Amino acid sequence: MTLKAVFFDAGNTILSLDYAVIVDALKRQDFLVDQEEVWRAECRARVKLDPFLAKVTVRESPEIFSRYVRYICEEMGLPWGEKAERLLQELREINRHSNLWRGGAVPGAREVLGDLKGNGYQLGVISNSDGRLETLLNEVGLAEYFSVIVDSHVVGFEKPDPRIFHWALQRTGVTPNEAVYVGDFYSLDVVGARRVGLDAILLDPLGVWPLLDCVKAKDLFDVRSLLPASPSYR
Ligand SMILES: [Mg+2]
Repeated sequence: MTLKAVFFDAGNTILSLDYAVIVDALKRQDFLVDQEEVWRAECRARVKLDPFLAKVTVRESPEIFSRYVRYICEEMGLPWGEKAERLLQELREINRHSNLWRGGAVPGAREVLGDLKGNGYQLGVISNSDGRLETLLNEVGLAEYFSVIVDSHVVGFEKPDPRIFHWALQRTGVTPNEAVYVGDFYSLDVVGARRVGLDAILLDPLGVWPLLDCVKAKDLFDVRSLLPASPSYR
């Protein structure tokens, strides 16, 4: 069996939240925190959000967005009240107009994607998004690395639905056991990928996920080190 392709989630995997915009929005509600604090809070918030993502049928929803913002605030020790509600509304508006995932490529993305592609891997993105994923990847200069970009809003299926993974596999011409999937939410990314027979790697930058039955990586450099340098038998 040969590992030929690596598929990636988008948000928090290769695309960063726009932490500068979030910090500014927090400041307007008198919450003074820095980008590092928001990032760390977000890494923990996703562990709390995961069980809800596992239960609902629509993931790109206002309810999930609210919960996500609320958990990030909780993890920063910010009280939930009128100010936080105003923050939520503002972030929702920003996300609607210009997308909160405009923070650019995550650290290491260009280097790692460039290496993997240069060494012969096929690369793809499979993301629960809102129809703007490909534009966003073009804007930050990441689109060129991928032979397939799958946006749930465009294809009509969200992770962990097997159909979104099959869509990408068919377009790259690889079988599930020839590919691995990298993402940051256990219930969507790891469970979803495994359901179709893909191996999965969970990104866990702070090592805060509980003990799980999957391989974890703290960043994309870690992911690269877990893979054979080039497509090869394993
Ligand atoms: Mg993600």
